[in-house]
Amino acid sequence: MTVLALGTQLTRQVGPLANHDGRVLMIEAREFARRHPYHPHKLTLVFSAMRHFRDALVADGYEVSYRQAETFGDAFESHFDDRPDDELVVMRPASHGGGDRLRTLATEAGGSLRVVENETFLCSPATFDEWAGDAERLRHESFYRFMRRETDYLVDDGEPVGGEWNCDEQNRETPSADYEPPAPPTFEPDETTRAVGEWVADEFAGGYDEQPYGGDWADPEPFRWPVTRDQALEALDAFVATRLPTFGPYQDAMVEDEWAMNHSLLSAALNLGLLTPAEVVERVLAAYHDRSVPLNSVEGFVRQVIGWREFVRHVYRRTMPELARANQLDESEPLPTFYWTGETDMACLSDVIDGVRARGYSHHIERLMILANFALIYGVEPAQLNRWFHAAYVDAYHWVTTPNVVEMGLFGAGAFATKPYASSANYVDKMSDYCSGCPYAKTKTTGENACPFNALYWDFLDRNEAQLRANHRMGLMYHQLDNKDEGERTAISERAAGIRNRAESGRL
Ligand SMILES: Cc1cc2nc3c(=O)[nH]c(=O)nc-3n(C[C@H](O)[C@H](O)[C@H](O)COP(=O)(O)OP(=O)(O)OC[C@H]3O[C@@H](n4cnc5c(N)ncnc54)[C@H](O)[C@@H]3O)c2cc1C
Ligand code: SF4
Repeated sequence: MTVLALGTQLTRQVGPLANHDGRVLMIEAREFARRHPYHPHKLTLVFSAMRHFRDALVADGYEVSYRQAETFGDAFESHFDDRPDDELVVMRPASHGGGDRLRTLATEAGGSLRVVENETFLCSPATFDEWAGDAERLRHESFYRFMRRETDYLVDDGEPVGGEWNCDEQNRETPSADYEPPAPPTFEPDETTRAVGEWVADEFAGGYDEQPYGGDWADPEPFRWPVTRDQALEALDAFVATRLPTFGPYQDAMVEDEWAMNHSLLSAALNLGLLTPAEVVERVLAAYHDRSVPLNSVEGFVRQVIGWREFVRHVYRRTMPELARANQLDESEPLPTFYWTGETDMACLSDVIDGVRARGYSHHIERLMILANFALIYGVEPAQLNRWFHAAYVDAYHWVTTPNVVEMGLFGAGAFATKPYASSANYVDKMSDYCSGCPYAKTKTTGENACPFNALYWDFLDRNEAQLRANHRMGLMYHQLDNKDEGERTAISERAAGIRNRAESGRL
């Protein structure tokens, strides 16, 4: 038997490698890496982490067969040519249909493959499905409380520590103008990472048809992400020591040029398997007990990891393949080119996209309330934004972008979102310092330099009225729209059309 260690399953803490010290197969499939115009840091991260994992296994006496091939099918053929009677064992990939596809490819290559449970997540499919029952729309808050009780994290006699399950109300502060968040660690590329980076630049740069300006991700910053378990643990320790105490209050805050704020930057390491969700949460809980880190920061973080991360994974599992195509608002606009280039005068979008181009990362509220919100009110077809996120971020995989982008960001299906996260410049101004340095006027809706978010916001409500007015959570928004007279509504719709024209011709 040989364990197939996929690039997102680089772990010996859980799964088949936790109690197996025999043969391991690892596959670098180039065709996989060409499916999207991936950010070079994403490809460098995955391939470098795989090669480091291989080296660590070899150093510990494992027999590792590391195959570089065009496709998984090619690699399986070579493997089973060498070992005709072998059986491969793999944890079920989180991507839709991934386990079945691997099994088919192995069978076609004349071998066999057994798929076992994916232990890189905390909540098993059986446990989630039992919790969900036959509910039509799944509720995160209820799942999260279920998970708190299941794991016993921050629970005392079945009740939440501190009296509240959710401290979100305390987590919406804006920092003072001179606030400087503690800098996150940078992991200098070693020889392996440098070699991978050069290979990625040669092998995968440019030539992607779907990238509208025909180029590649020019000039990112030097690569900075953890590629080994030791580095990932160091990143975890640094987060817990310096940024966790103020993670909670500033969780929703956005500050120009402060791309990391107090976020953990651990998603990429978690999604590769370098860290397990349980150990990440347990370090944070230890800081709560030993150092009195405030409960709102600790609870806010625990909720993201045992709540949202697990929840979206299972929503994806249960709603695919429909979720990837979902578009209940029937939106059809193409994704504006500036998502790739960063070339826009809008200060908020320009800063966030520049950051994504530089390092393949932006934090949650920028993803949701700047990038997805703009695409939502602009009317972008959900699958197009999903493809962009999948390509652009170092932590992006189909299982995690699809529920976050298509459902949470663009209200594609109503699988768990109860209303669209649509907002005007008002929200951006409240939660960030972007508007003060922007050539657009945050308080204007129509007219030459009016903030595009404003007209698009009202236009979004107007054009989706038939679907959204009956939603009781949208009552106040429609009440405000009703207060606008016919003339205002016409001017808004003309301004929204003008914004789309300008976006299409690269003048927004
Ligand atoms: C439009 C959109 C796209 C997103 N795309 C991705 C993606 O490609 N990959 C990804 O891992 N997350 C994605 N997220 C979720 C979340 O934004 C990122 O996990 C988070 O920003 C990663 O940064 P961090 O590690 O500093 O997170 P922190 O703010 O420090 O949060 C801690 C951890 O909680 C988990 N988490 C928090 N929210 C979510 C969520 N909604 N879904 C899944 N995990 C969550 C992550 O593992 C994260 O590392 C997306 C969210 C939105 C709204
Ligand atoms: S004015 Fe509008 S475009 Fe400019 S930063 Fe504010 S929300 Fe963004």
